[in-house]
Amino acid sequence: MDVVLNDIPVRNLALTWDLIPTIHPRPGRRGEPVEHVESPADAESPADGWGVDVPGVLALVDAIERTGGDIGQLRETLLRSIALLVPHGCCPDCESALPSYEEALAAYEEAAARMAERQASVSPETHPFVVTRSSAIHLWKCPSAPREDLNHPGNTLAEWTHGKVVNGMRVPVRSYDWEPTNEVRRMTGEELADWIRSVRGPQGGLNYRRCNRCQPALPVAYTSTSSDAYLND
Ligand SMILES: [Zn+2]
Ligand SMILES: [Zn+2]
Repeated sequence: MDVVLNDIPVRNLALTWDLIPTIHPRPGRRGEPVEHVESPADAESPADGWGVDVPGVLALVDAIERTGGDIGQLRETLLRSIALLVPHGCCPDCESALPSYEEALAAYEEAAARMAERQASVSPETHPFVVTRSSAIHLWKCPSAPREDLNHPGNTLAEWTHGKVVNGMRVPVRSYDWEPTNEVRRMTGEELADWIRSVRGPQGGLNYRRCNRCQPALPVAYTSTSSDAYLND
């Protein structure tokens, strides 16, 4: 890229990304514990992962010397040049992930709106039951009953690209989908009765479980209590 330092043009300054030989491992690899930063010198810098060509640096030094500038201008010029190359995130990987991040945000917003609509259309009175993905039946008010939940694509483009920090570990967010992660179906008594009939085994065996914590009174005869269990799903 071409830059101008104290009115002196410096042409073809070459910045390179993701150079392999660095003394410290690059921060932010997925699934790796995030190290505690001891000194400011070890802190993440916007220059991490970047390289620059020696002739380009010498041309910048020349420009500073010829104009009586100060050495800080070298740092400022290099960092400003990097910032121009990555206007949205922290690195070129972020820049190339921008379209997919924007798509994920839009998909998340839509899923969140659908979820809000679903939740607004039911109440504990009309839909007192909850059936989980593993066919457990709870009352809606049961503390063990799961709630519908959505994963967010990350508050920043960098989180989307590199993962977010959870309990000191960096975990990817790009693998999520934007539908509720836990299938939670709220049902009326009638819907639950239909559902129980549909999942009953051929000998009338039970293909569902009733939570022993909230012990929902089922709309059809519950033929056994042997499979009552404390459920956390
Ligand atoms: Zn990045
Ligand atoms: Zn329950």
